[in-house]
Amino acid sequence: MRFARLLLIAGLVAPGSAGAADAPVESQAFMEQHLTSARIVRAGDEARVRDLLARMTLREKVGQMTQLTIAAVATGKDGELRLDADKLRHAVVDYGVGSLLNVSDTAMPVAWWHATLRQVQAAAAQTRLKVPAVYGIDSIHGANYITEATLFPQPLGMAATWNPELMLRGSQVTAAETRAAGIPWNFSPVLDVGRQPLWPRLYETFGEDSYLASVMGVATVRGYEGSDPAAPTQVGSCLKHYIGYSAPTSGHDRTPALLPESTLREHYLPTFAAAVKAGALSVMVNSGEVNGIPGHVNGYLLKDVLRGELGFDGVVVSDWEDIKKLVSIHRVAATEKEATRLAVLAGIDMSMVPMELSFADLLVELVQEGAVPMSRIDEAVARILTMKARLGLFEDALRGVTASTVVGAPAARELALQAARESLVLLKNERDLLPLAGSARLLVSGPTADSMLALNNGWTITWQGDRAELYPRDRPTILGALRARLGAAQVEHVPGAGYDKELDVAAAVSAARRADVVVLCLGELAYAETPGNIDDLALPDAQIKLAQALIATGKPVVLVLAEGRPRLIRPIADGVGAIVLALNPGHEGGRALADVLSGDVNPSGRLPISYPRFANALRTYDHKAFEEQDTGFGLKAYQPQFDFGAGLGFTRFEYSDLRLAASTLPAAGQLEIAVTVRNAGARSGAEVVQVYVSDQAASLTPPVKRLRRFAKLLLQAGERRELRFTLPLRELSFVGADGRPRLEPGAFSVLVGGLKQDFSVQP
Ligand code: BGC
Repeated sequence: MRFARLLLIAGLVAPGSAGAADAPVESQAFMEQHLTSARIVRAGDEARVRDLLARMTLREKVGQMTQLTIAAVATGKDGELRLDADKLRHAVVDYGVGSLLNVSDTAMPVAWWHATLRQVQAAAAQTRLKVPAVYGIDSIHGANYITEATLFPQPLGMAATWNPELMLRGSQVTAAETRAAGIPWNFSPVLDVGRQPLWPRLYETFGEDSYLASVMGVATVRGYEGSDPAAPTQVGSCLKHYIGYSAPTSGHDRTPALLPESTLREHYLPTFAAAVKAGALSVMVNSGEVNGIPGHVNGYLLKDVLRGELGFDGVVVSDWEDIKKLVSIHRVAATEKEATRLAVLAGIDMSMVPMELSFADLLVELVQEGAVPMSRIDEAVARILTMKARLGLFEDALRGVTASTVVGAPAARELALQAARESLVLLKNERDLLPLAGSARLLVSGPTADSMLALNNGWTITWQGDRAELYPRDRPTILGALRARLGAAQVEHVPGAGYDKELDVAAAVSAARRADVVVLCLGELAYAETPGNIDDLALPDAQIKLAQALIATGKPVVLVLAEGRPRLIRPIADGVGAIVLALNPGHEGGRALADVLSGDVNPSGRLPISYPRFANALRTYDHKAFEEQDTGFGLKAYQPQFDFGAGLGFTRFEYSDLRLAASTLPAAGQLEIAVTVRNAGARSGAEVVQVYVSDQAASLTPPVKRLRRFAKLLLQAGERRELRFTLPLRELSFVGADGRPRLEPGAFSVLVGGLKQDFSVQP
């Protein structure tokens, strides 16, 4: 049933094929189904862990808490990377290192992974207690470190689909392909909400809204772990980067964030809370600092909040080298030994050291000196062993290696194509410039037109995603896909500009004069983490100049933005006739864009972020009311280029009959909302119905509105459908100045598709 429903949305590809009676994907029904669905707990796990712990020496325990990157036990680099038997033995057998991670630096073939994992587990089997090692990897948008894997849109693009079913199924593919290499642990999903658009990891997030991101986060965790993370098609998830990492004031990666407790809890905590409920096996810690306290020493957030309040019982792993960075970067400790003590006492269970064995030596000393109690070590090791048990590693350390999963199978690729299609957001379409007429002669120009990098971004085959020569040859860029669709003779290509340098602008302009329509592809290439830092969201001058020159020809311009964060387009937004946003749709993005531009697919993506207009007005949709008011001098704080939730299609939807079952409710009650949506256009299309609630007055200045529910549904031309949503009023609580949730009685409004209904909550 679930699959059928998905295909219906996918059925946009073949208009008319979809059965109109099918159920929409409603956010809360999805959440509830997946939060309550069965999870297998094996009875023997606890006893096994207790028994092992009782027999382990201090060194063996500390070894379990130590994680090294593969480069520390290997020689060579990229495709030449090979485990070094001596280094491996020293780490895994002599030191008892319990976990390895990563690549160096390129994706490797499945056969290489199998040989490598066999060698790692063979070393672990030589240890006294034969505890298997747990290998971890960053499969961020597919199993991106496994050659030939299926690559989906980056998480921000997945959020733009507003389709959690698709997220779930995509995550199942990622899990199966990762496990098929023998890797049982995935450092994903990123549950940092993306509210700072400069941040170079924005594309790894599910956008700025904590509800949309929570639904997508639950979908991801359930897709990865299934009902039994030990299964040969599942992996353990790792929620990262707990917490506040995504809010650096400067926009630069790993720089300080200032977040009042109420903001942290209101916007940054819900995603983690929901994914913990979904059963996630592990959490990775924020590399940066919040309110002057580095994530790795924040015992309050790691123990009181994560364990105490959220009830998390899995493993907390550090991020890369972050205990050492407490000395070198954060300067909260004078020595690595002191940093180790602080971090372990704050709640770090496993240290991603990751290059050498200092952590293990120092931690042994600290315990022997009485500076870290053995009980804390036992607690951490019990969690690590429990995770290994939950992953089935004690029964079969290589589970997955013999699985029948075919990495990069055609059906998985088809799913990735569907996801890419649904992720595209049509933001402007003046005078129905799109779809392009089949006979139109095109000029395709701009730095992202012929680039697989721009379609994928970082975490693609390499960390930075910048090695085009390693990409599969058979995936078209935007240019390649348009040529395949329309015929090469109809599509002229002049790059015009690189990312930040002018190339042949004059040639582009003369080619534009020969063309009927210009498809101008701007945006970003590839980056990940700190190397992706920028100081200005504006598109580089070279791109703007190219755009202005092409607009000046008077030819209609379709602007395609391929990028991982919203680069400003204010100087050119009015001059172009259509705008399509491609938030790193992945390997299949070129085809998906050709589908949308040609009209074969009716776009249904919606913005998961506010698209800013000005570099210094980076506000989210859930800003305060005052920020929308004209302050009397013609300026408003919030005036984005495009609103959160925005997105057009080639049809039109009309909303009517927004009704509430009651207009006055007790605080313990629930709101029953009904609304009718009609496809008033001439072709079938999918709409994302977004239900917002606005609180008229509250003791902390309320936001103008908050997203509380959404549903994605396909409607045939002329079809009408009533949707119902249920919203327990406790979900309208906000986190007060004291850091606690409160529901304050008073007047509220429900806002759906331009309609509004008021209701009041009784004391
Ligand atoms: C990133 C993490 C990632 C880790 C391991 C770090 O630099 O912040 O997100 O999981 O590396 O690759």
